[in-house]
Amino acid sequence: MYKCNSRRLQDSIEQFSQFGATLNGGVTRLSLSKEDVLARNYFCKCCEELGMEIKVDDMANIYAMLPGKKEVPPIVMGSHLDSVEKGGKFDGVLGVLTALEAIRTLKDNEVELEVPLMIANFTNEEGARFDPAMMSSGVIAAKFEKAQMLQSVDNNGMTFQAALQASGYEGEQQHRLKEALAYIELHIEQGPVLEAKQMEIGVVEGVLGMVCYEITFTGQSNHAGTTPMAMRQDPMIVAAKTMVFLHEQLGKIDEQLVYTFGRMHVLPNIHTVIPNKVTFTIDSRHQNPAIMQKVEEVLKNLPTEDKGCRIEPVKLWGRDTVLFDRQICDEIETACQRFGYTSHRMFSGAGHDAQYIATMIPSAMIFVPSINGKSHCEEEDTSFEDCAKGADILLETVLTMQTKYSMGQTYSLH
Ligand SMILES: [Zn+2]
Repeated sequence: MYKCNSRRLQDSIEQFSQFGATLNGGVTRLSLSKEDVLARNYFCKCCEELGMEIKVDDMANIYAMLPGKKEVPPIVMGSHLDSVEKGGKFDGVLGVLTALEAIRTLKDNEVELEVPLMIANFTNEEGARFDPAMMSSGVIAAKFEKAQMLQSVDNNGMTFQAALQASGYEGEQQHRLKEALAYIELHIEQGPVLEAKQMEIGVVEGVLGMVCYEITFTGQSNHAGTTPMAMRQDPMIVAAKTMVFLHEQLGKIDEQLVYTFGRMHVLPNIHTVIPNKVTFTIDSRHQNPAIMQKVEEVLKNLPTEDKGCRIEPVKLWGRDTVLFDRQICDEIETACQRFGYTSHRMFSGAGHDAQYIATMIPSAMIFVPSINGKSHCEEEDTSFEDCAKGADILLETVLTMQTKYSMGQTYSLH
């Protein structure tokens, strides 16, 4: 067992947080921006100093490889270096830096591996500058069309293609990650569960399935003063009633089900006018497809009309639950036991590159606790001690897997 150097890991987290540092201790490092390129350059320099070979693919994903004694596909660690606007200094970058720390620790201890190790940095995970999120892991996993992604435009009208070319990180398609023994992504939890349960490590078994519906309520606008209550077709009242009804119905389905009425539009949105149209979204997530089915049934079985208003639910999008590799999850849990770190099996409610990579390579994730459950904000925080524990578990898991692989065990996709 090798313990990572927590002081060195803290130094690298602090060093990287300078690339795009905000006034309140956060980071703005939008994908392929000047700040992102500085972080990429520094990351490549760190890897080269460790004797790693860098390759970049046509989506600007960076792969740093440390050769092993055997010429076999690598075990890959990694995450993303980009951030949202005024995000925190842990989201994404921690997965890259704990991987770097794991390799530095191997070098400190002069460990020679049978199997090559790779660190991956996936481009535009956040989707904060260019829609969609997890764009480049999605392209290499054939979830998205590259040609379409190149046309994605940022707020200044710049295409992803132009940003890619300007960044100096447009590489070769042949360098895309195709084969690997495993992919392990360490990430902050971005939620309050580990902290509330006083657990040090989250063993992430998958990413929750979700559906998002938008419900439109259409009525009739009229004067707010002259129209008697009984003579109105007011879609706002019907929308409010429906929201309460959904809250009651979905609340009964399963206590782990989460749902959010996150966006609402009112037309014409004037305080003296009865609205004629109200829409709201409902985003709902759970790991069990049967539960998600029940949610959809409730939504589809809403009445089509109430108080003279039309009710139309439309499915905007959905994703199936992604299950990570059970054996890798077991290895992560065993590593926690060896180190005496408490661990908790859980699902991720947020999307991550690992959910796309998992469709081509056996994958799993390691979570470390988020203080007050905060993320995607400058207050995002994780104790450096917990970061180092995560790095210990990442390294131990990789070492166990490469040992078992050399003895003939393989990790299989579900
Ligand atoms: Zn992230």
